[in-house]
Amino acid sequence: MALFIIWLCLLLTACTANSEERLTWFTGATMGTGYSVRITGLPPDIDPQRLECDIGRLLEEINGLMSAYREDSELSRFNRSRRTDWVAVSPELVYVLQEAQRVSRLSGGAFDVTVGPLVNLWGFGPSLYPARMPTAAQIAAAGKRVGFELLQIRNSPPALRKGREDIYIDLSAIAKGYGVDRAAEFLEAQGIHNYLVDIGGEERIKGHSPLGIPWRIAIEQPMTEGRKVQRIIELDSHGVATSGTYRNYFEWDGKRYSHIIDPRTGWPITHKLVSVTVLSDTAMRADALATALLVLGPEQGFKMAEREQIAALFIIRASAGFIEKATTRFLEFHRD
Ligand code: AMP
Ligand code: MG
Repeated sequence: MALFIIWLCLLLTACTANSEERLTWFTGATMGTGYSVRITGLPPDIDPQRLECDIGRLLEEINGLMSAYREDSELSRFNRSRRTDWVAVSPELVYVLQEAQRVSRLSGGAFDVTVGPLVNLWGFGPSLYPARMPTAAQIAAAGKRVGFELLQIRNSPPALRKGREDIYIDLSAIAKGYGVDRAAEFLEAQGIHNYLVDIGGEERIKGHSPLGIPWRIAIEQPMTEGRKVQRIIELDSHGVATSGTYRNYFEWDGKRYSHIIDPRTGWPITHKLVSVTVLSDTAMRADALATALLVLGPEQGFKMAEREQIAALFIIRASAGFIEKATTRFLEFHRD
């Protein structure tokens, strides 16, 4: 929930006078969070209520495939299965997992959707344990079940194969982005080219706002309470995602343990990088990359972002306040 959209009510009402630039706006719940769709100048032949239903249904279908929180989802069935031969799955699941594997390889395993057993052990997954410290033996045991190379993926026919019977996939770091992309593609197919789609802070933007100017996105300051704008960016065609450690964590002995786990150590990350925002062609890629860079941390992550020419903004905790570090690609987009 790290990005939010700047909307000045006054400007909005002023704009609705021009029917061509009218705002159509609807919201709902999916993937354990909220979503919103904003469209500038909806073509008159499109019924907004029908559109809202269609998008709701689309997101519901994706959730039914990819949610680890739903026992009947395709992902949960695969997670429960003990089979180590090829298991037929939907092309959608294969598509998302292939992108996940690409980001895993790119980040040397810092991003890894097989991290599920560790996420659950630390109390951040569907099988919620009371927040407590796992033992070293528990961390080591869960860690054995983690590793992106333990998952094989086949395209045709679409299928997955477990390298061990007890691997468990968690798509929380990439599925929201995928949902955003699918909703955006649905809008495009209807001839809608000016929109902003958001699921829990992961976004896809195209065209212009009702004001006739690029959509404006506010990047939040990484505060645990309240909301403050760190920076505003204007975008015309992008996926945007933020990954942060400042909202979802527990405290133990005065130390914070976040929901972002380094699969290479089995521990929640502890460095001073508190938030990463990534701009990319797709929201899915931005979503996965933001998590990957956050795990890698302020130095390694920044190095990878520059090397791969990723547009990323890093927010790092300092003794007083925060320090921002933007990659060369990010600076090409940014406006204060
Ligand atoms: P995001 O907010 O997109 O960074 O996703 C965070 C969620 O992804 C966490 O709540 C976990 O369920 C999962 N996760 C945690 N660590 C990792 C990791 N290293 N790689 C992939 N997913 C992770
Ligand atoms: Mg992510």
